[in-house]
Amino acid sequence: MVTYIKGARLLPQLVVDNYKYLKHRSAQKVTYWKCHLYDSGACKARCIIGIDQSIILSGDHDHTPTYEHIPDDLILFKEIFLLKRICRQKSTFGKISESNQN
Ligand SMILES: [Zn+2]
Repeated sequence: MVTYIKGARLLPQLVVDNYKYLKHRSAQKVTYWKCHLYDSGACKARCIIGIDQSIILSGDHDHTPTYEHIPDDLILFKEIFLLKRICRQKSTFGKISESNQN
C-alpha cells in the first residue's frame, strides 16, 4: 500500500510501509522518492514508482517508521501496488523478507 499525503508547501509526499518519502525527481516513466531523512544523511532509503504502478524499494531504513497511523486529514489518496512487483535491490534478487533479522 502506497499512500500519498499532503506535505509542506502542498508538495505531495509518499508513505510506504509507514515510512515517509519526499519527491526527489521525476523522469518520463518513473518518479524517484527519497526517505525524508535522506538529506540529513541519517537514512539512505529510496524508492522508485513507475507509471505502471511498479515500486522498487532501495536500501533499508535505519530508524523507526515515521507513522504508526497516518492522520486521515493528511491523506490525499492511496494506491495499491502489486506486491509481486516490489523488490528490494539490496538483497538477493527475488527474495522478499519482512523480517528484521541480522
Ligand atoms: Zn528512512
